[in-house]
Amino acid sequence: MKSSIKKDTFKAIYRLLDRFSPINGNCGKLCGSICCTYEYETSSESQPSIDENLSLGLYLLPGEEKLFTGREDWLEWNWEYAEDYEFPESWHGKVYFLKCKTAPFCHREMRPLQCRIFPLTPHLDENGQLFMIYQSGQLPYTCPLISEKIKLNDDFVKANFTVWKHLLRDPLIRDLVEMDSYFRIQDGEDINILYP
Ligand code: SF4
Ligand code: SF4
Repeated sequence: MKSSIKKDTFKAIYRLLDRFSPINGNCGKLCGSICCTYEYETSSESQPSIDENLSLGLYLLPGEEKLFTGREDWLEWNWEYAEDYEFPESWHGKVYFLKCKTAPFCHREMRPLQCRIFPLTPHLDENGQLFMIYQSGQLPYTCPLISEKIKLNDDFVKANFTVWKHLLRDPLIRDLVEMDSYFRIQDGEDINILYP
């Protein structure tokens, strides 16, 4: 998929978000890094299907794959055609899903955006205004930062807002956030606004 976000811009976004974390210290200590390891725990009991693997994998935003060679030994690459799954109609071609083979340990400076923004997600209201909210919907695990409403670092939340304001200039990424926001509203999910 043709993204308007340049490789250098993705790099700059990674570097910016490298500077901030949801709370001081390693929040993985609160939960055994469940958001990194969940699929590995379940797969030891029963082998998930390809689709389940994909749904629990990390997806890359259009163009984010430019930061990777595809030969990283700590990542397993999968892809599907956007047309075969519930992605925006404007999306055509390959969507990449990664599985982290060494979770919860990884090349931290190269972890995908999906890892960097959690437990936040961008939300666009009916007027198209951007907010950072808690990741909503059904998660297959409990993140204590969300369930216990642990105060997140302001600079982490604000940096995410800045990043998403920029990312939303890309039509494909905007379409994704619009679609997710629309479903969130339609499904009556909790929308906990953290910023602004
Ligand atoms: S973001 Fe939530 S689920 Fe993930 S490691 Fe931190 S506390 Fe655990
Ligand atoms: S890339 Fe790193 S932060 Fe992301 S799931 Fe893998 S181990 Fe966790």
